[in-house]
Amino acid sequence: MALIVHKYGGTSMGSPERIRNVAKRVAKWARAGHQMVVVPSAMSGETNRLLGLAKELSPASSTPALMRELDMIASTGEQVSVGLLAIALQAEGMDAVSYTGWQVPVATDSSYTKARIESIDDTRVRADLAAGKVVVITGFQGVDEANNITTLGRGGSDTSAVAIAAAMKADECLIYTDVDGVYTTDPRIVPEARRLHTISFEEMLEMASLGSKVLQIRSVEFAGKYRVPLRVLSSFTPWDIDINEEAKSGTLITFEEDEKMEQAVVSGIAFNRDEAKVTLLGVPDKPGIAFQILGPVADAKIDVDVIIQNVSQDGKTDFSFTVHRNDYQRAIELLEKTVGPAVQAAKVIGDTRICKVSIVGIGMRSHVGIASKMFRSLSEEGINIQMITTSEIKTSVVIDEKYMELAVRALHRAFDLDQELPV
Ligand code: ADP
Ligand code: ASP
Ligand code: MG
Repeated sequence: MALIVHKYGGTSMGSPERIRNVAKRVAKWARAGHQMVVVPSAMSGETNRLLGLAKELSPASSTPALMRELDMIASTGEQVSVGLLAIALQAEGMDAVSYTGWQVPVATDSSYTKARIESIDDTRVRADLAAGKVVVITGFQGVDEANNITTLGRGGSDTSAVAIAAAMKADECLIYTDVDGVYTTDPRIVPEARRLHTISFEEMLEMASLGSKVLQIRSVEFAGKYRVPLRVLSSFTPWDIDINEEAKSGTLITFEEDEKMEQAVVSGIAFNRDEAKVTLLGVPDKPGIAFQILGPVADAKIDVDVIIQNVSQDGKTDFSFTVHRNDYQRAIELLEKTVGPAVQAAKVIGDTRICKVSIVGIGMRSHVGIASKMFRSLSEEGINIQMITTSEIKTSVVIDEKYMELAVRALHRAFDLDQELPV
């Protein structure tokens, strides 16, 4: 008997029919003798619908008071899901009970809309499991010290599931979704994308942080920190397929480098349309300038990603960086009103039509020429690179967003990612 956590995403929970299918699958696992904790997301489209209602009433930018209410509203999507799934499980003859985040409780900090899980009290859940119940817990939400409901950021149910698995020392956490694993890139953009049988934890972390939304980044961080065995697989297979076959399907996130069977130099391509670029033109090139610019940006709690400073001409330079698109307006205002005048910049300009495309692979550590191959492939497509950033296992470029799909397809081809590797 093992303790297993299943997570089902929005599409997998998208209709009563699909919920019934989830219940049948979970019942199969429970009948095979496993203790089951299930973490569903809101039904697909529901979180957007709820947040859309809030936006109709207040398009204003986010005050802490407003953010608190957004979490109050958004968390209800998952509350509906757990109730429906518990009913569907009961209809399958299971003893099932549902809990919201605050009932468990899943304790978080108070950063509304992007709260972090601090601890999980599993006493109640363990007692239910010991009594033979299937326990269904809301994804995406928790409660802060003052009993306010919080949410964990979009896609946060992945993190709920892995955190619960970590807290309960589950034998495995299975993330069921609408694709049958982690692919070399988003299969919706590149139909030739190939499913990876395994991916190393480090690569998965990079892929998630660089935009592959198949797993929320914090879920991967939790999995790494607590060594949670983690697998991504499809909820769209027939619920009654052989359980041993199902348990081996999808993509396993591995923690040991030598466990990784597929040894490609580049394992995957990620892309991200969520960033925008801001530039200060004609800044005096003198010591301390980067700090004078980025210090106030950090104080305003605006996260900065890619940074570039051009070589100076006549003692003047241009300084660009990217921020999340949600922070773009605030960043521009800050630069125009305070930072720009303080550093005597000639002009502030911005561009929201950019995207970041990244190649990821632990094989890049031991191979040279990978970045230049990337740049050649983009140049052959006539794509101009605006910014570049690299780390040991990734190279990212910022380009015009209209070339995003072209770039991803070209790189997928250039690095032979559509070719099955010898295992
Ligand atoms: P869920 O609702 O189950 O959490 P998501 O929509 O959050 O599902 O994540 C699954 C989606 O992630 C897939 O439908 C796919 O389009 C997208 N995706 C992006 N990059 C990848 C990738 N490298 N491998 C697989 N899916 C990816
Ligand atoms: N329902 C939330 C969202 O849409 C959380 C999740 O699906 O993981 O972002
Ligand atoms: Mg998701």
